[in-house]
Amino acid sequence: MNVHWMNSSDSLSNYKGEEAVKFTKGLMHAVNYDLAKNAKMLLPRRNTTPLIPTQYRMVLAGRPGDAGDEGIYFHYDDELCYYVHKGKNANLFDRKVIQRYGIQLDTVLNIFIMPHHPDSVVSTTYQPGGVGVALGAAVKIAGPYENPKMTFWDIRGVFNHEIGHIYSLSHTWAYNDGCDDTPLHPQDCFGPNDRPGCDTLMSNNFIDYSAVQNAWTPVRSAKSTSE
Ligand SMILES: [Zn+2]
Repeated sequence: MNVHWMNSSDSLSNYKGEEAVKFTKGLMHAVNYDLAKNAKMLLPRRNTTPLIPTQYRMVLAGRPGDAGDEGIYFHYDDELCYYVHKGKNANLFDRKVIQRYGIQLDTVLNIFIMPHHPDSVVSTTYQPGGVGVALGAAVKIAGPYENPKMTFWDIRGVFNHEIGHIYSLSHTWAYNDGCDDTPLHPQDCFGPNDRPGCDTLMSNNFIDYSAVQNAWTPVRSAKSTSE
């Protein structure tokens, strides 16, 4: 995979330089840590679903033949750098940034880390949190820069989640995702302490929405969605 740090032309809207490189490498470590560790699936309660090792890891890939290219890129573009997750100006499904800046799109997974739009950030109804979307062989992610306390550990769940969509996995909760070992559930417990009962109802599957996305189950799916 490679990582594109999108920024405004004044370079004030996202991490850059050594700080961004460090974040990228930390994120690789955190993502692979969860993949290697693979937690037991929490749902259904008292399940006997086997825990087996995951068979993929993330590796940064620069362009072949260019020893100085480690697969981390910086782009300054006031028109295409921003991510809007919700509202009338939502652009999460827009692929222009991928078409303009994607590198080795036919062989390498391209990750775009984008700032939330400043107009969204000042809105009281918009949450500029850690979010993302999978589009073909690329992923758009937003959130780290607007949340200075958010480390690469905090965004690793979103990252693995979106890559799950790239690998054609669907959300588990709302409909049949094609996997017998990811049960339907209400998806109303983000954390174990959200309300009474969540301590036993929260999912930890990486393709669910929750505070903990670190369980990969054995069954493969044939279906897919993207957000
Ligand atoms: Zn999703």
